Amino acid sequence: MVEKILIILFFKKIYCPNSFINSQRGAKDGGCEETITIDSIETHLNICLFTEINCVNSSNCGKFRRGEMGTHIEQCQYEIKKCECNHSFIGKDMEEHKAKICPETLIECEYCNMKFKRIDLGDHIDEDCPKKEISCPYSKYSCEFKTNRGEMQNHLDHYDHLVLVKNRCDYLEIFLKGLESTILTINQHSESNLNIFKNQIKDINEQNKYSSKWIIHNWSDKVKKYQKGQCLTSPVFTISQTKKFNIRVYPNGEKENKLTISLCKQFDSKCKVNYRFEVINFDFSQSIFQEKTFTFAIGTNVYNSNIIYEDWNNTKGFLIDNTLTIGFNIKIEKLYGDYMTTA
Ligand SMILES: [Zn+2]
Ligand SMILES: [Zn+2]
Ligand SMILES: [Zn+2]
Ligand SMILES: [Zn+2]
Ligand SMILES: [Zn+2]
Repeated sequence: MVEKILIILFFKKIYCPNSFINSQRGAKDGGCEETITIDSIETHLNICLFTEINCVNSSNCGKFRRGEMGTHIEQCQYEIKKCECNHSFIGKDMEEHKAKICPETLIECEYCNMKFKRIDLGDHIDEDCPKKEISCPYSKYSCEFKTNRGEMQNHLDHYDHLVLVKNRCDYLEIFLKGLESTILTINQHSESNLNIFKNQIKDINEQNKYSSKWIIHNWSDKVKKYQKGQCLTSPVFTISQTKKFNIRVYPNGEKENKLTISLCKQFDSKCKVNYRFEVINFDFSQSIFQEKTFTFAIGTNVYNSNIIYEDWNNTKGFLIDNTLTIGFNIKIEKLYGDYMTTA
């Protein structure tokens, strides 16, 4: 009995569920008019033109009957479309793209009202538009005339701009002359500044040097009075503003029986010195001298220079009125920096 009922149901034809005949949906038409067997409902609904399905582009569009989908797609805001500029957009963005960005969109020139692609409009206005107002090409020569591009040739044909150009040339000539004399003045200034600079360098160099003569009277008394190892001391002199030196002379030699002259450094820092001592003879060509470059160590110290001239006391010409003259040139070649110490 149950089997028989099932078989009857199985083969009984029913209306498609999308038939709206008895529904509350208020459709104008009656919906799907197909009658189908129960087992083919699913197959039918998959092709039924009255089945409501989502828009293939976006569920935001809502549901549409399968049979109406084609009409919707044509105006679907989410359908991807290709613009003339080759970029793709969904429908709702396309309008904004065309209105604001797309280089292919035709836009009206505000001056001549002709239409140009957005990408070409700027060049049209800057270079071609006959209605755009432009300045006379001689504006930099003081022609203040302005008119639209199409009228400019007429102005150029009827106004002689050569006068303006000549005026500018005259002005430039005067200007150039002024410039020339300015350059000359600047050159003179820089030359005199250079000379001042050179002199300053020379002064600085001079500060590193000291030249003088030490004149010792009554020499024979000194020879008697100062035994070997004893010395006379010269006044102190200053080089480079603060560096003090003096000279010692041992009339009978410091250790040997030779005239010994010493340079004494009176400050602590290390320094390199070039010195020249000369015992001056009445006949300059017979003067004896010693020249050396020497580095003083840190601390006050003395550097001896043995003027080697055996038995020089007996040689005539070095003493004039019993006076001995020692010439000297001292140059500080390098200072190694000041410092202070505490014991
Ligand atoms: Zn149907
Ligand atoms: Zn859609
Ligand atoms: Zn575009
Ligand atoms: Zn234009
Ligand atoms: Zn002009």
